[in-house]
Amino acid sequence: MIILSVNAGSSSLKFTGFEMPSEDVLISGVFERIGIDNSFYTIKVNGEKIKKEVELPNHKVAFEILIKELMDNKIVESLDEIKGVGHRIVQGGAYFDKTVIADEDAVSKIDELASLAPLHNHAAIVGINAAKEVMPNAVQTVVFDTAFHQTMAPCEYMYAVPYAWYKEYGIRKYGAHGTSHKYVSQRMNEILGRNDTKLITCHIGNGASISAVKDGKCVATSMGLTPNAGLIMGSRCGDMDATVGMTPKEMDIVLNKQSGLLGISGVSSDSRDIEEGIKNGNERCILAQEMYVKRIVEYIAKYYVLLGGCDAIVFTAGVGENSISTRKEILNKLAVLGIKVDEEANNVRGEERKITTDDSAVPAYIIPTNEELMIAKDTYSL
Ligand code: ADP
Repeated sequence: MIILSVNAGSSSLKFTGFEMPSEDVLISGVFERIGIDNSFYTIKVNGEKIKKEVELPNHKVAFEILIKELMDNKIVESLDEIKGVGHRIVQGGAYFDKTVIADEDAVSKIDELASLAPLHNHAAIVGINAAKEVMPNAVQTVVFDTAFHQTMAPCEYMYAVPYAWYKEYGIRKYGAHGTSHKYVSQRMNEILGRNDTKLITCHIGNGASISAVKDGKCVATSMGLTPNAGLIMGSRCGDMDATVGMTPKEMDIVLNKQSGLLGISGVSSDSRDIEEGIKNGNERCILAQEMYVKRIVEYIAKYYVLLGGCDAIVFTAGVGENSISTRKEILNKLAVLGIKVDEEANNVRGEERKITTDDSAVPAYIIPTNEELMIAKDTYSL
C-alpha cells in the first residue's frame, strides 16, 4: 500500500511516498515557489534526481504533477493505489494528542488554532484541501508536531502568568518537533529492547528542542508556546528574560531571526560556520558555541533529575546527527553523571550508533530522525 507523507508550507510542498508496511521510500521531493514566479520541483525517484521548472499556481497543481510523476515513473498505475496521505501540522493545541483523520471537525479545529501558528496551520489546510480534491479516495490524516507533548502534566506546561491567560487564550507550553521526539524515542526503546525507559531526546537542528520521555510518553520539553523557547538555536534566542523592552514586531524579528548562534557570533546561524570560525580563533564563535552547548547541558541535567535518572540520551536532527564536536563537548560536560564519550564511535555523521564507552553510566546514541516515516506509519495504522 502506498502512503504519502506531505508537509505543506505557504509556498512549498514537501513529500515522500512510502510503500507500507515495508517502509521503502519510492519517491521524495519538493515543490517550491508555489504561487510565485520561477516555480519548480525536484524529485528523487528510481535513484535519479530530477529538477523541472513548471508553473505552480497553487498546491492542487503540485499534487496533480506529483500524481503524474508517480504514474510516469511506474510507481502507481492508478490513483487508487495511494491509500493514505498524512499531513504534517505544526500546532494541534490541546485538541489533538494523536494523529487523526482529517475530517471537517479536525480541519476546523486546525483553523481555529491558527492564531498560535499563523503561517503554518493555514498553509497546511490549503494542502489538505488540495490533496482531498486530487485524491478523493485516499484517507487523509493530520499528524501534529505538538501531539506527543500532550502527556505533559499542568505543572510542566503552565506558565507562571495570570491564570486567565491560559483559560481565555490557551497560553501554555505546547512543544514542537513532537513527531521527531516520538520517532527517535520509539527507535531507542527498540534498541534497548524495552518500553519502561527514561530517555532524554535532543532534536538539535536549526530549530532545536530537548524532551524528557518516560515509558514512551513525553513528560517535559524545552519548546514553549512558540518555537522560541528553551535552547539557543541557529537564529533564535530560546529562554530569556521576557521583560527586555521591545515592540512585538521587533521581538519577532530580533529574537527569532537575529539571535541564537547568529546573534552571538555575528557570523552565521549554521553550526558548520561556527565550527570553522572556532578553528580560525574567532572569539565570538567560541562564545556562541560555549553558550549553545551550556544550554543543552543545562536541559539534559534538569531532565535527568526530573526523570530520576536516564537510560539513554539520544542525539538527532542536523546538528545532533552531524556535529562531532558539539556532541563531544555536551557529553564531556556531563562527566559528573558518569557519562563517557567514545571518541572513535562519535567520529561519525548521520549514522545510527552508540557513541559512549561500554562503562559509561548512561549510553548516548545518534538516531537519525525520520519525521516523514513517522507520519506514514501513523497514517498506515489509521
Ligand atoms: P531544520 O531545523 O531546519 O529542520 P536541520 O535539522 O536540517 O534543520 O539542521 C540544519 C542544521 O544542521 C544546519 O543549519 C547546521 O547548523 C547543522 N549541520 C548540518 N550538517 C552539519 C555538519 N556536517 N556539521 C555540523 N553541523 C551541521
